[in-house]
Amino acid sequence: MSVDPRYAILFEPVKIGPVTAKNCFYQVPHCIGGGHSHPQSQAAIRGMKAEGGWAVVCTEEAEIHPSSDLSPCAESRIWDERDIPALRLMTEAVHAHDALAGIELAHNGHHAPNLFTRIPPLAPSHMTVKWIHPKQARAMDKSDIRALRQWHRRAVGNARKAGFDIIYVYAGHHMTIAHHFLSPTLNQRSDEYGGSLENRVRLTRELLEDALDEAAGECAIAFRYAVDDLMGADGTQAHEEGRGVVELLADLPDLWDVNVAGWDNDSQTARYAPDEGYQDAYTSFVKSVTNKPVVGVGRYTSPDRMAGLIRRGVLDLIGAARPSIADPFLPNKIRDGRVDEICECIGCNICVSSDNIGIPIRCTQNPTMGEEWRRGWHPERTTKRTSDDGVLIVGAGPAGLECARQLSDRGYTVALAETQAELGGRALLESGLKGLGSWLRVRDYREHALVRRANVSIYRESPLEVSDILEFDFPHVIVATGAHWRADGLGRGQRKPITGLDHIAVLTPDDIMRGGRPMAGPVVIYDSDQAYMAGVIAEHLADHCPDITLVTPAATVSPWTTHTLEQGRVQASLMRLGVSLQLSQMVTGAGAGWVEMNCTYTGQPRQIPCATLILVTERLPEARLAEGLQASIAAQPDGPLRSVQTIGDALAPGLIADAVFSGHLAARNFQRDPLAVERDLFVRDMPSLTVPGGGDG
Ligand code: ADP
Ligand code: SF4
Repeated sequence: MSVDPRYAILFEPVKIGPVTAKNCFYQVPHCIGGGHSHPQSQAAIRGMKAEGGWAVVCTEEAEIHPSSDLSPCAESRIWDERDIPALRLMTEAVHAHDALAGIELAHNGHHAPNLFTRIPPLAPSHMTVKWIHPKQARAMDKSDIRALRQWHRRAVGNARKAGFDIIYVYAGHHMTIAHHFLSPTLNQRSDEYGGSLENRVRLTRELLEDALDEAAGECAIAFRYAVDDLMGADGTQAHEEGRGVVELLADLPDLWDVNVAGWDNDSQTARYAPDEGYQDAYTSFVKSVTNKPVVGVGRYTSPDRMAGLIRRGVLDLIGAARPSIADPFLPNKIRDGRVDEICECIGCNICVSSDNIGIPIRCTQNPTMGEEWRRGWHPERTTKRTSDDGVLIVGAGPAGLECARQLSDRGYTVALAETQAELGGRALLESGLKGLGSWLRVRDYREHALVRRANVSIYRESPLEVSDILEFDFPHVIVATGAHWRADGLGRGQRKPITGLDHIAVLTPDDIMRGGRPMAGPVVIYDSDQAYMAGVIAEHLADHCPDITLVTPAATVSPWTTHTLEQGRVQASLMRLGVSLQLSQMVTGAGAGWVEMNCTYTGQPRQIPCATLILVTERLPEARLAEGLQASIAAQPDGPLRSVQTIGDALAPGLIADAVFSGHLAARNFQRDPLAVERDLFVRDMPSLTVPGGGDG
């Protein structure tokens, strides 16, 4: 089949120095929460992207020396030649699909606290390390700079030996020493590496020249550079120093990979950067300055937009991290005329949070992400059904929808019943809140697939009770009935109900999402959940309610959103909206017109006025149906109902990503050998040490 002419431009080869990308889909370096500690997963994740049609697939940042030790975070490592075998797993997996493999070499300077290696960190000038550790980086002298260049050159040589086609010099995200030298605020040197822009660019130029020399024309040297750090006059601005750097180095690298810094600006969530291409305004000048190809990012998922960017000469290659995580097969789907099957990134940054927490990557939209090697999951292929049994799924939220999608892929006949007229469950509800509109893609992607399948029947406006289900004679029922927010105040760190709630108007997030609104007067949002919901609700209500106080036992607002790179924006947004913040406070009691809070440190009580209390504390599973069905199996062991399984929030409330994963897992494991299911749990990347006693047991 020939490519749709509108998108044909996306499939033209692009020359990058001595190598050629077969099309313009470029997976820029991105973390997977386990680079050097999970080499098999690394290879399988990157190999999957290559299989899905990405012409270039890169590692995350790869530490080039023990003095750039990001522990406890696990990124890639190329300290010396002993890292080559692990990295070669990745390049071979990528090459198997005719794609190019890239590696992002990094010395992280004062961004790396060296907690494992205990080497004093390095920086252009004396300064504290970036993370909150009582540690300082030392100013590099000339011999340190010479050593750094040698380490970098050696890493280029080892990267070549590992089979990489594109090797990066990296000055972005405020995360690397090259970037720190470029910064007039971090670089306060008075020698030829500090002061003027030419001097601050010197180290980067030397690293590029060394890399080009070491690559000897056999692989391409890319330069990743943040042209703007969105700090206005206090930082690098695209039209000033950002442009100056591009002009000074214009045709030196084989490729420009451009973005904005820091990571929280580069990987903005849809909540604060709703539009695709949110970086274009900063990066679009680059192509007018260099003759070398340019790749840029901006959560691009629309092929029309991508083709437009290439056609208008804004970019030569479409860069993607998150869109390639949500759908590793995005390029092939465009090529094969299956644009409507693209699983679009929702911009939630659960993927980012995995890396920040230090666990292998997870994605809300793509439950197979991070499970390619461990569980052998493929996003586009699955195992065939093992019986002709039909399955009834009750509840069409993220868990039920994903379970239905995967079970129908496997060939099972599926009936999906949903109380509401619209499918989506919490994805539908939460997408109605301010900033979360794109979350509806979780529903849309799945509903779009399901309504086209002959083996799926969807029953809307069908609230099912145990008696209804028993009448249907389905042998298997999967219960995905979700959860509801508690209205009694129990939550994290607080296992007693809040007293006096019957004297005051109480709402939960469910009420707000279903259109409920506070009474006139002061509103108190109590957030012991501490994830995203309370902050979202405060933003959602702020336009209509002039007097909102957010009370939380945490020391900052929505602290969990630090992992999704949003916390600073959430807190700033609430402060700008005039939401009063009561931090380190626990709501313990309420009465007519007031709530009582206690300081979490001193226990000091205080009353504040309150007409409506919104409790964002904890959720309770909707378990009644599952319990009823289990009781019926127990009463009638030889009856037609043979199995009942609970998934998603109805089993244990969590993120939408957890519900999608739970639905997917249940479908993959449906009627599978229980021993194989059990074995999956124990699979991990491990060094091959001998097991005491022979290891037969
Ligand atoms: P999850 O995140 O686990 O998918 P959700 O709360 O998003 O959970 O979705 C649960 C869905 O189940 C909701 O759309 C709800 O309307 C539906 N539901 C709950 N109970 C029943 C029932 N008895 N019959 C049919 N649908 C139900
Ligand atoms: Fe996109 Fe969210 Fe998946 Fe990350 S986790 S790729 S932001 S859908």
